[in-house]
Amino acid sequence: MHKISADWVCPVSSEPLENAVVITDNAGKILAIEPAEKHDPASVEMHRGILIPGFVNTHCHLELSHMKGKVDTGTGLIPFITGVVTQRNASAELIAEAIEKAEQEMLDGGIVALGDISNAPDTFATKAKGRMRYHTFLELFDFLQDAGAEKTFADGLAVYEQLELVPGSARSMVPHAPYSVSRSLFEKINAFNPKSGITVSIHNQETPPEEALFLEKKGEFLDFYGKFGISLDKFEATGQSSIYYALANMNPANRTIFVHNTLTSRANIEAAQSWSPHTFWATCPNANLYIENRLPDYSVFLDTQARVTIGTDSLTSNWQLSVLEEMKTIARYQSYVPFSALLRWATLNGAQALGFDDTLGSLEVGKTPGIVLIQGVSPDWKLGGDVSAKRLI
Ligand SMILES: [Zn+2]
Repeated sequence: MHKISADWVCPVSSEPLENAVVITDNAGKILAIEPAEKHDPASVEMHRGILIPGFVNTHCHLELSHMKGKVDTGTGLIPFITGVVTQRNASAELIAEAIEKAEQEMLDGGIVALGDISNAPDTFATKAKGRMRYHTFLELFDFLQDAGAEKTFADGLAVYEQLELVPGSARSMVPHAPYSVSRSLFEKINAFNPKSGITVSIHNQETPPEEALFLEKKGEFLDFYGKFGISLDKFEATGQSSIYYALANMNPANRTIFVHNTLTSRANIEAAQSWSPHTFWATCPNANLYIENRLPDYSVFLDTQARVTIGTDSLTSNWQLSVLEEMKTIARYQSYVPFSALLRWATLNGAQALGFDDTLGSLEVGKTPGIVLIQGVSPDWKLGGDVSAKRLI
């Protein structure tokens, strides 16, 4: 049994508690949260700081970990994708080593679960070790070529079937982004996945050219596809923002994580939330700064009660894989976002998005959420640059 206390305990599912003790069994399962005065101080492990549940990272591409520092910052999404496509090949040893190292970095930083995009089976051996809960999103794209959907799907299925699911983990087939998935491929993905109760994700409204493509069939995506010899002759602009194409082609009965949302407006959020009560919005602020040097307007997410979650994206588009660093970046650029919201985005909302809130996301009796100590938060609950996180359990 462990008894742990700190200046504050933030269960996330309820208000912060001053001078409380979290009691767990040896496996980390929470047995009780009680006032400190009920316990002999000598029996309690005391810390300065705040106890919170383990972080949930809802968006990463662990298989791209070996490309850290390879693709330039600040160029915009299209040059970035071109960099990834042309530079991702490496030896199997190098890829595997980088994946293991990246997972260790996340574990050390207090991350207990990951929503991870896979195009290939490179991460599956690491995931089979079960060191954190994983939802693997087997991601498909056919560059808007309906004729290619069948082969794309079959190739993806062959990868999907190689994933050995350890207890507590999950998987689904997912579309990459509106600008890269044909209606035919959306149909195949929907037909394959369970009809309800699972999580899917899609990259969303990350860059202005994505909007130009859907609104007017103009802009840099036409050149990008042209360069790769792909014709968009059969693609027709919808005249609406790209998210409406996703809404028209995805299944509202499943949980959907929209990822990035850099350009998402209040009207877009409201449309998605009336389309489905199971919408989540993963923000990856450091990746947005790395790739496009801009951030979403978080005020519209707060105003619409959107369930925001946090993702690190991959080491190809980030300097580290730390949910705490993502929280700090939001606090630095949009300081009106309260600590309580950032904490919920980083823990419980993420657990709910991945369907892992049965065991993770909050300090509640019966859960095994991991316990993380954060230190350096100011007395008025501001998250400055020197705040640190350490996993205790
Ligand atoms: Zn991504």
